Order: sequence, then structure tokens, then C-alpha cells
Amino acid sequence: MRLPGSPLARLRAASTRLRERGDAVACPICDGRFARFLPYGGREGALCPGCGSAERHRLLWLWLTEEDRLGGRMLAFGPDDATEARLRTRPGLRYLSADIDGSQAMTAADITRLPFADGAFDSVLCSHVLEHVEDERAALAEIDRVLRPGGWAAIMLPVDRTVPETLEDPSAVTREQRQARFGHSDHVRLYGADTAARVGASEVVDVLARVGAESARRHGLRREDRFGPDEIYLRTR
Ligand SMILES: [Zn+2]
Repeated sequence: MRLPGSPLARLRAASTRLRERGDAVACPICDGRFARFLPYGGREGALCPGCGSAERHRLLWLWLTEEDRLGGRMLAFGPDDATEARLRTRPGLRYLSADIDGSQAMTAADITRLPFADGAFDSVLCSHVLEHVEDERAALAEIDRVLRPGGWAAIMLPVDRTVPETLEDPSAVTREQRQARFGHSDHVRLYGADTAARVGASEVVDVLARVGAESARRHGLRREDRFGPDEIYLRTR
């Protein structure tokens, strides 16, 4: 998600921040305090009025900072703008973001054929990317390859836990077919309850349980739809 860039959009954002001023909720990414997080995509309490972050962005940021995982060489796929801005300027972190065409990140890279040396990174963030990637095996192999031994990858995905087994359908190739099959026109599968095994997670981090109910409420971490709550699939090399 890009921050609004035009003068009019910035004015609207400033007006929203003003309208939602308060202290009922707090965003850990932009450090803003507001009356509420805004509705988005049919969900209440989703978007930060200050930085536009969604539940999963705040959840990941809180985990990264509370676990003191922001150091060394980090490669990120799919960061939101607010997190990206914080990570780029984080002291002690050598940060690089990548996406397929480079327009949403610092560099262009195909996650199934990464232009980086073996062991080039200490950590990888990969949030809501693999559901767009047809060759998921190649992507996971590349993440492993560019991690140093002992490095880790935090993978996040839209997971529908009511679906027992991840659903793929090679016959669904058009946007309409993918929308009908996977609930989103540019997703190539629907992740289900087998996701941890599928992405080779050594741990499924339940951040909500870790931070407790009050922190989860105040920071707006719980995604209130069939893809929530978000969890982090931790893959260690
Ligand atoms: Zn914010």
C-alpha cells in the first residue's frame, strides 16, 4: 500500500488524522494515537489514520521490535510504506526491499530467481507475497539460499484456516477465474490450515497471544475477517 502522494491526497490524510484524533488506539509504526483505526475492506479497526498501516503491518512491526530482530542485513518483500520508511532509517540495520518490478521497493528482483549471493542476508521478511507467486517452491528455495546459516525468514500470508488444505487450480488462469477460485484476482492459491507445513515453518508465531489482549486491542493487531488473526511463519535456515 502506497502512502497518498498528491497534494489533495495529503490534505485528505491530514484531515483524517485530525478527525480521528484521540488516545483510544496507538500505532506502533508511526507512533500516532487516535480515536480508532479506520474501516477497510469490510473490516472494522483496520487502517491507521496516520500512516495507512493495516493490522498485519502493525503486528509484524511489534514482533520485530519487541523481539529485537532489527539488526544485520535484512531483505524484505512486500513491505508497506510506513514500515519501509522506518526500516530504511533504522540504525544498525542494513535494509533492502525488493519486488518484481522495483516500483514498490528499493530494487527489482524476482523472488524465484534472486540476484543476490548465497548467504547474503541475516533475515528475510516476506509478507503477503507468496500467494501471488506460481512457483512457491522456487521462492522458498531462493529465500533459503540468500539467508546465511542460522538466518531466519518471517513469512506472512492470507490464510483461511477453515480450508483444510491449500487450494491450487492450474486451470484458473484469468483474473475472473482466480477471483472465483481464490477470492482475489491476482492470487494463485488459497492458503489453508496446512500452511505451516507447506512453507516449512519451524515455528508459527502467535503474536496476539504473545503481546496479550490489551496490547492487541490498543495496537489494532487482530484482523477481524476469515483471514485473521495474522500469524508469522518463521522459517529458520
Ligand atoms: Zn500508523
